[in-house]
Amino acid sequence: NKMKLCLLYGGKSAEHEVSLQTAKAVIHALDKNKFDIFPIFITKEGKWVQGPQITGPVEDVKYLQFPGDRESAANEIMPSSLDSGFDMVFPLLHGPNGEDGTVQGMLELLNIPYVGNGVLASSAGMDKVVMKNIFAQAGLDQVKYVSFIRSAWEADREAAYKQVEEKIGYPSFVKPANLGSSVGISKCDNREELKAAFEDAFRYDRKIIIEEGVIAREIEVGILGNDELACSVPGEIVPKKEFYDYEAKYEDGSTELVIPADISEAVYNQIREMAFTAYKSLDCSGLARMDFFVSPDGRVLINEVNTMPGFTPFSMFPLLWKNTGVPYPQLIERLVELGRQRYEEKQ
Ligand code: ADP
Ligand code: MG
Ligand code: MG
Repeated sequence: NKMKLCLLYGGKSAEHEVSLQTAKAVIHALDKNKFDIFPIFITKEGKWVQGPQITGPVEDVKYLQFPGDRESAANEIMPSSLDSGFDMVFPLLHGPNGEDGTVQGMLELLNIPYVGNGVLASSAGMDKVVMKNIFAQAGLDQVKYVSFIRSAWEADREAAYKQVEEKIGYPSFVKPANLGSSVGISKCDNREELKAAFEDAFRYDRKIIIEEGVIAREIEVGILGNDELACSVPGEIVPKKEFYDYEAKYEDGSTELVIPADISEAVYNQIREMAFTAYKSLDCSGLARMDFFVSPDGRVLINEVNTMPGFTPFSMFPLLWKNTGVPYPQLIERLVELGRQRYEEKQ
C-alpha cells in the first residue's frame, strides 16, 4: 500500500523558481517504493496543471514533460477539483497563495491531509505584523516596530514618516507585511530613503512594517514536530553585502551558510527555548524555520518564522537537519508522517 502523494509546486509568487528546484529535489529524493508521486504545477499566472504520475527521473518539472508522456498528458484543473483520492498533499510553495494559509484552507475543505503548517500558523506567520504582535504577547524579545496601511499613509505621509522617526529612528528596515525572500525590503538611513522605501514596499502590499535596524549575527534553527518538538543545530547566515536580500538568497551566491553556527551553548539554549515558545505561540505544526538576531553583547531577538522555509537540498532548513542527523529523504518522510498524525488527531 503505497501512499498517493501529490506535490504542489511553482506558484504565483516571487519564489516560483525556488519552488521548482525544490520539487525536482523532492521528486528525486522520494522512495518510489513507498510513494506514488503526482505532480501539480502552478504556473506564474496561477493556473493549476496536473501531470501524470511520475515513475522515472524528471528533467523538467515546469512543463510536466515526462518521458514518453508529453504535454498532452498534463491538464489544467480547478484547485477545488483536486482529486480527493490523494493520501497526502505536500505544498512546496512559498509566500502568498501557498505559505499563507490559502492552500491549506482549501485542503481542509477538501478533507485531504497535507504536509506542514495549518491555516492559522500559515497565515499568522506570513503577516509580519500579526506574527510580531503574537510574539510580543508570548514575551519574546524582538526589535521595535510600527506598521501602516496604505490609506493611512496616503492620508498623511508626513505624519507617518515622523512617527517612524520618533518611534524607530535610523537605520530602519521597511518591509511589506506579507512577503518573503526579502522582496520589497529596504534599509533606510534618512528621510529620503524612508520615503522611497515606503513607496516601494506599498507596491507589494497594502500593509507595511518598519523595524529598528540592528547590527547582529543572523542565526536560524529548524523546528520539527506537532506537539513534541525537536530543534536542529543552529546555522548562521553570513551575508557579504549590506543585508540578506533576494539576490543574495537565490542568485549571486554571495551568502555563506555556516552550520553549525559558532555560538555558545548558553545562546543556543536561549534560541531553542525562544524558538519553541514562538512555534507554540503561532500553533505551528510540522515544521518551521525560526530566525534570530544575536547582537554583539549576546542579546537574542527573534526576527521571524518561516512556515514553509526554503526546501532545496542546499537551503538552510534541510542542511540544518542534515547536520542534526536527518538526511533529506528522511526529512521528507518525517514531514509526511507529521502531516498524517495531525490529520488523524483531528478526525
Ligand atoms: P523575509 O521574510 O523576506 O526573509 P526578513 O525580515 O527576514 O524578511 O528580512 C530579510 C533580511 O533583511 C534579513 O535576513 C536581514 O538580513 C535583514 N533584516 C531584516 N530586518 C532587519 C532588522 N530589523 N535589522 C537588521 N537587519 C534586518
Ligand atoms: Mg520570511
Ligand atoms: Mg527572512
